[in-house]
Amino acid sequence: MDSVGSISRLLRSYSTARPDNPPLIGVETVTTERQVQLVPMLVGGEPTLAKAGGTITVGNPAHRNRPIAEVPRALAEDVDAAVQTAHHAFQSWRRVTPRERGRIMLRIADAMDAGFEEIAVLIATETGNALAPQSRPEAKGTAEVFRYFGGVAGELKGETVPLGEDLLVYTRREPIGVVGGIIPWNSPVLLGALKIAMSITAGNTLVLKAAEDAPLAVLRMGQVCNEYLPAGVLNVLTGYGEEAGAALAVHPLVRKLSFTGSTEIGKSIMHAAADRIVPVSLELGGKSPVVVYPDSDNDTVVQGVVAGMRFTRQGQSCTAGSRLFLHESIHDSFLEKLVAKLQTLKVGDPLDESTDMGSLINQKQFDRVCNYIEDGMGQSGAEIVLGGMPPQDGPLTEGWYVTPTVITRATNDWRVAREEIFGPVLVVVPWSGEEEVIRMANDSHYGLAAYVWCQNIKQALNAAHQIDSGWIQVNRGLGQIPGHSYGGFKMSGMGREFSLEGMLDSFTQRKSVTVNLA
Ligand code: ADP
Ligand code: MG
Repeated sequence: MDSVGSISRLLRSYSTARPDNPPLIGVETVTTERQVQLVPMLVGGEPTLAKAGGTITVGNPAHRNRPIAEVPRALAEDVDAAVQTAHHAFQSWRRVTPRERGRIMLRIADAMDAGFEEIAVLIATETGNALAPQSRPEAKGTAEVFRYFGGVAGELKGETVPLGEDLLVYTRREPIGVVGGIIPWNSPVLLGALKIAMSITAGNTLVLKAAEDAPLAVLRMGQVCNEYLPAGVLNVLTGYGEEAGAALAVHPLVRKLSFTGSTEIGKSIMHAAADRIVPVSLELGGKSPVVVYPDSDNDTVVQGVVAGMRFTRQGQSCTAGSRLFLHESIHDSFLEKLVAKLQTLKVGDPLDESTDMGSLINQKQFDRVCNYIEDGMGQSGAEIVLGGMPPQDGPLTEGWYVTPTVITRATNDWRVAREEIFGPVLVVVPWSGEEEVIRMANDSHYGLAAYVWCQNIKQALNAAHQIDSGWIQVNRGLGQIPGHSYGGFKMSGMGREFSLEGMLDSFTQRKSVTVNLA
């Protein structure tokens, strides 16, 4: 994989932006006016630029988005070309047997395993997510997504229905057609891999729009996939949401929409889907509750709460356990341990192996998060036990760094306790009665994830069953594992992905065939 080597060399040398950067592997690139390389999209298996010639600059958030590359700015005409290509490819891809499609996924999984380090460096460079705790595990974990769906490909089967000796009734799981996939920047490769693996294993073809803030690692993954897939089965576009994303959502040949991103944009995707009656899956925002019982005042739980809050991704995760309900009796001692643990996190350069926490993605998010911190600090009774507004000078001002921030003595109706901050800001609400804490946990328009920390398993499961969220973890704070369905209640989304059932429900359509045997 020579090409992989050159893409990472390119990015490692972004700071000097030399005009003699080696070309990206297998891809014709142009050195732009900004002296960075233009990395093309992938349409019909070919490196492709936007027809109108526009580009978008991709920056490194750890250096206030200093340019590292450019990508094409796809417009409606480019989306149309990609969708037409995917539509054409669908006619033959749908006839490839599921097991053969699965075999291709397994080959992609092996290739992703072999090339994960290059992809990890790309993720860290374009997102600001630290390499060791975040970007590398994301890149490594991605192979498992392809492997899982490759492994279950043979399970794309229907049923026979016993309606009597004179009738043979059976169902088939058929692919839907061209899928329009839209992904965000926070775990771009993992989320992109999910859309690719689920859509394509099920026999659909895909036009995937990467997030404008983080397209490079996704393009690299697309190149890897395209070495094994027939041309046109996977197409990866880069462009702005309101241009390329919106055009994809309304394209008449797109037969299924799968979106991961903000609740606000999710609504507009659902509107677009409604206009054409196409199925849609939405993975949206969250404000996930974390309920800690009095029997769980220990270091393991503290570590779990830190992991659940996704501090190593600067809290930029839909499943972040960002509302911490601490029982009053352990409030002080738990917070003391939590603060001590968070103080050990090293915030800084995402490419430094010893960094625990990198930079936020861009200035817009930085300003938003600062605004929330200011708002939280201004509430009467608020106690800031750690962090606060970001440093005004020193090395952390080179990027969009915000340090871990913990605000306690909050009530559940504060803005910081209701709205998704998407930053390293943990809001703590003390509780004393079980009924009260479940009511507060459920008093949210979101319902994506939840965390229950309790040694008494009866109590823990009672709480798990009463909390209105699509995914509850009991005494665990880590991420999703391919195989269990994942998706939200309430305004956190609709549809389930990540599992065989999710693939069957969201990426196939059931056809019934009734045969008269009389
Ligand atoms: P954020 O604002 O945090 O980036 P978004 O939900 O806006 O979250 O973005 C998630 C994805 O949705 C990105 O790929 C983005 O380009 C895309 N997107 C944004 N706006 C639209 C839109 N109006 N239509 C379709 N896609 C969009
Ligand atoms: Mg947006």
